[in-house]
Amino acid sequence: MASPKTWVKGIKIDYDNCQGCKTCMKACFADVIRWDDTDDKPIVAYPEDCVWCLACEAACPVQCIEVIPNIPAPLRSSF
Ligand code: SF4
Ligand code: SF4
Repeated sequence: MASPKTWVKGIKIDYDNCQGCKTCMKACFADVIRWDDTDDKPIVAYPEDCVWCLACEAACPVQCIEVIPNIPAPLRSSF
């Protein structure tokens, strides 16, 4: 069965460095990132809804979240 096209392969969170600040969750308008109240850490709940906007990555104060795009390599900007 063909799987629907998604923008990202996955979203990695480095839980060792995560500060539990909720910034990523608040930054994600697509509600991909939800909160784990037990561990007080973000969870990638709906990666299939991610549109690769990188708002979460850009917003994280300690750069511990990485969105991995579903293309072989990101195109480099030439300007
Ligand atoms: S890249 Fe954008 S849509 Fe995807 S999880 Fe981050 S904020 Fe949400
Ligand atoms: S923004 Fe970064 S440090 Fe804050 S909760 Fe999300 S992953 Fe953790």
